[in-house]
Amino acid sequence: MSHAFADRHIGLDTDARQLMLDALGYPDLASMMDAAVPTAIRQSSPLRTLPEPASEAEVLAELRAIADHNTVRRSLIGQGYYGTFTPAVIQRNVFENPSWYTAYTPYQPEISQGRLEALLNFQTMVADLTRLHTANASMLDEATAVVEGMLLARRVSKSASNLFLVDSDLFAQTRAVLDGRAEALGLDLEYLPLAETDRADLPEAFGVFVQYPAASGRVWDPSAVIARVKEHGGLAVVAADLLALTLLTPPGEHGADVAVGTTQRFGVPMGFGGPHAGYLAVREGLERQLPGRLVGVSKDADGKPAYRLTLQTREQHIRRDKATSNICTAQVLLAVMASMYGVYHGPDGLRRIAERVHDQASTLAALLRGADYAVAHEAFFDTLEISAPGRARELVAAARERDLLLWQVDDDTIRLSVDETTEAVLPDVVSVFGLESDWAMVFDSAIPSSLRRASAYMEHPVFHAHRSETAMMRYLKRLADRDYALDRGMIPLGSCTMKLNAATEMAAVSWPEFNGLHPFAPLDDVQGSLVMIGMLEDWLAELTGYDAVSLQPNAGSQGELAGLLAIRGYHRSRGDDHRTVCLIPSSAHGTNAASAVLAGMRVVVVATTGSGDVDLDDLRAKLAEHGDELAALMITYPSTHGVYEHDVKDVTAAVHEAGGQVYVDGANLNALLGYARFGDLGGDVSHLNLHKTFCIPHGGGGPGVGPVAAKAHLAAFLPGHPLAQMEAHPPFDMRTGSVGTVVHRGAPVSAAPYGSASILPISWAYARLMGAEGLTEATATAVLAANYIALRLREHYPVLYAGENGLVAHECILDLRPLRETTGVTVDDVAKRLIDYGFHAPTMSFPVAGTLMVEPTESEDLAELERFIQAMIAIRHEADAVAAGEWPASDNPLVNAPHTAESVIVGEWEHPYSRELASYPATLAGSTVDGGFGATRADKYWPPVRRVDQAYGDRNVACSCPPVEAFA
Ligand SMILES: *Cc1c(COP(=O)(O)O)cnc(C)c1O
Repeated sequence: MSHAFADRHIGLDTDARQLMLDALGYPDLASMMDAAVPTAIRQSSPLRTLPEPASEAEVLAELRAIADHNTVRRSLIGQGYYGTFTPAVIQRNVFENPSWYTAYTPYQPEISQGRLEALLNFQTMVADLTRLHTANASMLDEATAVVEGMLLARRVSKSASNLFLVDSDLFAQTRAVLDGRAEALGLDLEYLPLAETDRADLPEAFGVFVQYPAASGRVWDPSAVIARVKEHGGLAVVAADLLALTLLTPPGEHGADVAVGTTQRFGVPMGFGGPHAGYLAVREGLERQLPGRLVGVSKDADGKPAYRLTLQTREQHIRRDKATSNICTAQVLLAVMASMYGVYHGPDGLRRIAERVHDQASTLAALLRGADYAVAHEAFFDTLEISAPGRARELVAAARERDLLLWQVDDDTIRLSVDETTEAVLPDVVSVFGLESDWAMVFDSAIPSSLRRASAYMEHPVFHAHRSETAMMRYLKRLADRDYALDRGMIPLGSCTMKLNAATEMAAVSWPEFNGLHPFAPLDDVQGSLVMIGMLEDWLAELTGYDAVSLQPNAGSQGELAGLLAIRGYHRSRGDDHRTVCLIPSSAHGTNAASAVLAGMRVVVVATTGSGDVDLDDLRAKLAEHGDELAALMITYPSTHGVYEHDVKDVTAAVHEAGGQVYVDGANLNALLGYARFGDLGGDVSHLNLHKTFCIPHGGGGPGVGPVAAKAHLAAFLPGHPLAQMEAHPPFDMRTGSVGTVVHRGAPVSAAPYGSASILPISWAYARLMGAEGLTEATATAVLAANYIALRLREHYPVLYAGENGLVAHECILDLRPLRETTGVTVDDVAKRLIDYGFHAPTMSFPVAGTLMVEPTESEDLAELERFIQAMIAIRHEADAVAAGEWPASDNPLVNAPHTAESVIVGEWEHPYSRELASYPATLAGSTVDGGFGATRADKYWPPVRRVDQAYGDRNVACSCPPVEAFA
């Protein structure tokens, strides 16, 4: 035990570790790690780039110093990112509340009803505003949502055309992302000024994209264009601004099949680019084509309404290379914030905000026109394109003098967008254009009557019932209380690394210097963030043994895509266009195969051996078979089975020899940091999940950051961005301040140059607090905890797979299939019974059906580990009682789990076990652990619903808020 913060982050103290090591038969952590990690992969070089660990106070002071190098000016840049007031009640009770931000993706619906309701509100709000049938929750950002819309159109359209028509009046970042993604898949794009194109001139296409309002601010009616494309069998995708839709006819009424966009301006700070929730909504009949997560309404065992994720949830694990999308982690926390902004303001409040915004724009347009500036469009919502021949640069500079940011299109043109926050600075905006004389607000609408919205929206009572802050605070509390998050107990989800998200790490996320920046703000204003990003890239490169890192991808899946696109770019740069085969072991995470397809590759599955390792013989056979078509092998290390594979270097060498590149999925880095590096194992490129290993909270299913890290030969193919402030990336030496020359030139995979930049201080702070030594200690402790659980539970549930000396890595797989054979009790029953015991279940049936994968992480203390072990043993005894005939297979505490308070209190009790056993099983199990088990009576977590009927929800798809009477 070496330093203060590591002792706070790591839950196991010296005594606990010794007790666990004694049980495992190792004198100390070092010898256990020597036994667990194969010598062949151990890293030799010490980590030199990471500074010595700092205290929490020091880290906050350093972050403050970095923040002081950012300058937050009032942004009128717009282009997809707008100022917004985050209601304080949402900031405090959602954004800064661990009950919301430390939750996991709601795969266990019974303990996730709060966030599922919040997401259902989100879906209802988006579907209403766009006037489409079904909206998901959520997309990673607007630009990638446009791509998903295009891909949906390609899947559904019967047109033989390979062409996707795109309105040229779209955001530059959307164009850049679309270009890159279409190119990889061989889809053709044609950019046309659709507002000015005769519909008769439109070529046949499988789809069309319209930005509404357009990037230049223009508001126009795309119905004719949409109708024409649909005549040809194409689909229409419209990116619509939700605030504008409170005043404008919505895309659904223009005939759009798909609406996409961002919900950023609904109370989510710009954050130098992210995170924010994108959205995607479809017309009736396309529900089964939706990418990403979709919340639906089903019923529980008592027939009461209950929410759950529906349809293609976890579809990558099932459909793999046939999946509709690779999106796994989405933007749940931000979708919750945006939905609560809608709940708090209601439809009337949103409309009032939109009207104030529009009045500001109208006022500026009138003043500018009065002074002979040409304002491009008669019809607009919040954005003006202003012609100022030869003066654009000068005007932008004059604005900056007044702490305002305008958007320069070219030497002669600027754009400005007003928002909820700009009214107070209108006099300054006016003065930029030299119009100081008296002026007053103009209330003439610049929205033509034909495009004014007539249809109602957000009529559900939830958008009308929480108008006072008291009501809102209580609604947020009520929902949070329904959920099980890390602030309640451990979430031992294998492959997800639910570790501590420390308060100090979270602090800077709320600072305006980090979350108030527009992603396209000028270089001089964002120096602090760029320095922090450079440091983090540099540290991650060193920790992984790579040369270059891009923090742009918004989730692990997007990092995978970026890494595979880098491999593709590399092969093509060498004339190896035919290298398109991606080998993926059968046990891989489902996103791997889905990402490979999106990178234009063909997936070939490689077998795994009985021990879970890559089957070297099958690999050699596949390498021989695919010869010079081989693009890459994608493997996970440690394996998805939680094992340090011994032969990984043989695997990577064989792939290199065959001319392929090696992609190492780095989501399991928590088992390696400080002990081995992907680069040293033969990896060419990897993604990491900062929302797993580096402490960004899961937010109930996002945000995430999935950096992509690569060797030097791939660095130039990492994602670039046309609007990035920083061209060169590490090598970047903090001590000398010298910047290297690695320039990322690949196509962007996110709308913003640095992706979800505002949450990077979390990972920066974690690395800074821990230092190399602390990170290494965390790894060893995580491995110790996993092995201790494996040891203790082995006699009750067989542990599948182990590596050297019978040791697992950071997680272990408990095989419940024998239990099912002997007792009829399923993995589902065990997972749901764990809720009665006060736990979130481990990962179910991944990577092996009928198993539980347990990842305790380093952050849990021994009392919590024991509480879990005791619960699992007690459940085993309960299952044995079923097998012994003590309880019938159809009526026992396992099949009936979880038990709500209502189910044990109301009415007659007719089960063959007691109500006490149903709800307070821990006490009866007679645990001997102090402070853990016995304490749970008073602290009992009551699930709000009984077991959710999954099949019913898929058969009866309902994805918006149910009427209030449904709960009567
Ligand atoms: C979590 C995970 C992913 C996907 O990451 P997301 O951020 O959810 O997209 C990919 N591979 C593995 C092995 C993972 O555990």
